[in-house]
Amino acid sequence: MKILVAEHSGFCYGVKRAVKILDDLVLAQEKIHTLGPIIHNDQVTKYYEDQGVKIIKELSEMHASETSEIGVVIRSHGAPKSVYDEAEQKGLKIYDATCPYVKKIQNKVSTYASKGYNIIIVGNAFHPEVIGINGWCDYQAVIIDHIDQVDLLELSARPICVVAQTTFNMKKWDEISDALKARYSDISIYNTICLATEQRQNACLELAKKVDYMIVVGGKHSSNTIKLAEICSKYVPTTHIETKDDLNGDELIGKKVVGITAGASTPDWIIQSVILKIENEGEVFF
Ligand code: SF4
Repeated sequence: MKILVAEHSGFCYGVKRAVKILDDLVLAQEKIHTLGPIIHNDQVTKYYEDQGVKIIKELSEMHASETSEIGVVIRSHGAPKSVYDEAEQKGLKIYDATCPYVKKIQNKVSTYASKGYNIIIVGNAFHPEVIGINGWCDYQAVIIDHIDQVDLLELSARPICVVAQTTFNMKKWDEISDALKARYSDISIYNTICLATEQRQNACLELAKKVDYMIVVGGKHSSNTIKLAEICSKYVPTTHIETKDDLNGDELIGKKVVGITAGASTPDWIIQSVILKIENEGEVFF
């Protein structure tokens, strides 16, 4: 049996970078909290918990006695400016793992807001990345995620700056930004969508066309992993597993070429353990 792994499987650049920052701190035996889980993957969260890393929701959860000895990692989604201000006030050490692409958006809204622009963020108002970006323009941004909302906007007569959540759907973005352009003339629109998701989806689609079975590795509730499984299953029988233990092998009997892809929060060691299981127990499968 041949095993092919899709390009762009697993962690994107920003998540890889954030995990590396945390790994280096763990290795250096620093006492560390993360502001929210570093990634949404139960196995990874459990691993870091075992290494003594604690997840906190807010800096206020830390006792005054802890602030001098425990560092806090900000994950790739970023955080509002108020978090940095609070950390400075408390003398807390921050390790900033905000993805540079997200940081760029935060800087953009901060600059434009200070020049008096209206800020529009196209994205999900409840997503931590969007909440973080809004926190760099004093929470004054208007957040929309549907073209129908464009006509309902009531903005002051100031120029407008528009940015997107990095994982926003490109088609919906095009619709919304076209509608904004049609309604407003004094408007600066920045497509800040990151291509990592699209690249991962395109690569898995291409691979699904070439194999006779696809294995998608990632959290059962991870929406981007579910989406990958949906895409693959249009072309070829597909299974969605969380770890190697979910693979019983029956599904691989008689398969000649098996493709593997993984969601954005699946670490490489989980992908490798799936490959190893197929390779080592191959004789059971075919
Ligand atoms: S902006 Fe792109 S590279 Fe950065 S964390 Fe988000 S998806 Fe990953």
